[in-house]
Amino acid sequence: MTWRATVLTLFPEMFPGPLGVSLAGKALASGLWELEARDIRDSATDRHRSVDDTPAGGGPGMVLRADVLAAAIDAADADQGRPHLLMSPRGRPLTQSEVAQLAAGPGPLVICGRFEGVDQRVIEARNLQEISIGDYVLSGGEIAAMALIDACVRLLPGVMGKQASGEEESFSDGLLEYPQYTRPQEFEGRGIPEILTSGDHAKVAAWRRAEAEALTRARRPDLWAARGGQEGTKSTTDG
Ligand code: SAH
Repeated sequence: MTWRATVLTLFPEMFPGPLGVSLAGKALASGLWELEARDIRDSATDRHRSVDDTPAGGGPGMVLRADVLAAAIDAADADQGRPHLLMSPRGRPLTQSEVAQLAAGPGPLVICGRFEGVDQRVIEARNLQEISIGDYVLSGGEIAAMALIDACVRLLPGVMGKQASGEEESFSDGLLEYPQYTRPQEFEGRGIPEILTSGDHAKVAAWRRAEAEALTRARRPDLWAARGGQEGTKSTTDG
């Protein structure tokens, strides 16, 4: 079955947006994955088609109604067994390993919040997993959903030109990626590290490994500590 992302949003016209161009867009056009954007408002029941209301207990803004969102989820939920994700700054931070897991499954149902967020009861009643794309607040879940879907799609079989390029990049081994270079040979007086033009593949691999480790150590002590803080350790995700 084709990998499919179903997005529940108040702004379906935002899709496919950036997912319709380049790598993801070509793959979408050639049927390597499917995207369905559904309007939450279609599940509103009153004659004003209202989807939100004022927060219980007071305070600014509006909250997405539990009954409307639950109806939208139920209407979208033809294929059982797919993960139900709610984009949310309170969620667990999205990681590359979770992206890889999602890419390996049937594809998620992704709910985009707006306003102050969604009624807590629908999160519990529909068992929504809250996912954050970082410690900052967006005005809506759509851009977060696009980030998540883009990260998944590039891992689907046949989407990336060379299968290998997904395995060597940032995070796949708990490390940031080594520096990359291409022509010209000299740029504003800066050359390319000699090892990279030596043709010695073992030396190139060792250099890249050392650079990746040094970079991770300097920039992301959290990642470095998480993988044991040791040079040359092989993680289980190594190919
Ligand atoms: N009042 C909420 C923020 C709501 S922002 C709070 O303080 O937690 C509106 C919507 O944008 C959210 O419901 C969510 O769907 C989306 N959103 C905002 N920031 C996000 C982030 N960092 N990651 C994922 N989704 C986010």
